[in-house]
Amino acid sequence: MKITDIRFGMLKVPLKTPFKTALRTVNQVEDIVVMVHTDSGHVGYGEAPATAVITGDTHGSIVDAIRHYIAPRLIGQDVAELNRLTRAIQGSVEKNTSAKAAVEIALYDLWGQLYGAPLYKLLGGGDPVITTDITISVDYIDKMVADSVAAVERGFESLKIKVGKDIGVDIERVKAIYAAVEGRALLRLDANQGWTAKQAVYALQTLEDAGIKLELVEQPVKARDLDGMRYVTERVHTPIMADESVFGPMEVIELIRLRAADIINIKLMKTGGISNAIKIADIAALHGVDCMIGCMLETSISVAAAVHVAVAKADAITKVDLDGPSLCAFNPVDGGVIFNESEISVTDAPGLGIRAIHGLEPLES
Ligand code: MG
Repeated sequence: MKITDIRFGMLKVPLKTPFKTALRTVNQVEDIVVMVHTDSGHVGYGEAPATAVITGDTHGSIVDAIRHYIAPRLIGQDVAELNRLTRAIQGSVEKNTSAKAAVEIALYDLWGQLYGAPLYKLLGGGDPVITTDITISVDYIDKMVADSVAAVERGFESLKIKVGKDIGVDIERVKAIYAAVEGRALLRLDANQGWTAKQAVYALQTLEDAGIKLELVEQPVKARDLDGMRYVTERVHTPIMADESVFGPMEVIELIRLRAADIINIKLMKTGGISNAIKIADIAALHGVDCMIGCMLETSISVAAAVHVAVAKADAITKVDLDGPSLCAFNPVDGGVIFNESEISVTDAPGLGIRAIHGLEPLES
């Protein structure tokens, strides 16, 4: 199975409700879909969103990096040489992690198709059913409480609450939501870099003193402020998770060495794809550090890849935040991973099992 061509499409899917964090507001998913064609007629699918404020990747940079740096190293190569090809992708260009992720996802999809097995089985197997949380966007307190109660009624048992706007209001937000769903759902907070280290300690100690138990708090401080992250981790009981602070395996090693956080959020768009996500899960497992697997605003192409990784690496990846598909107004993909609100299950279809993508607009190759 030799790679013959790489083509691009644009996939746009409206969100059920606007996605609001401390960094941005988004109304629809607009992702680049990557199609890797082969001489056997098999096509592998990958996907990447533009998340300029986090990874620096834009639609233009994703397509350009693939077209001019990644594709030339893959055309004519054999899919069976997976490890050599993932090294070629990672070494093709600095950064550009979303572009690398999209191509790696398509390549692993083809690798599964080559051997006629779902990806998670080739990655070592596992229980093909996982449970995800859902994001509650940052908003007025009443709106966040209503959204949280609605999510619990839809069956979600973990809520990821976006905060990080105004420390006083953030504390009131969490108290109100906790009171509304107590005993029915676990709360995860995501501050998206919105607090200083001292503000984070103040907010979390205030919440702890009020008897509010949080499962974790994600990225309280600026991405580059590892000292600040460690300052918070040392001073609160609530587990602290690093998201924007860690992209690849080297940064994870540094974070663990500094004991700057308790948990690591793995996202394929930060790691540059599946090969590094596996490395991070293995490094974390060696150190007894838990991981979450998350996603950007992605549909069920690239999120399916994250699901396969989560299933195969469930010993290290104990928390799942793969709510991209359930935030979308509809699922544009007929595929091998079934997204049913909080429950995600994987079929035995080879690779990622993607049969059709509805509404895909071709981009010039
Ligand atoms: Mg986050």
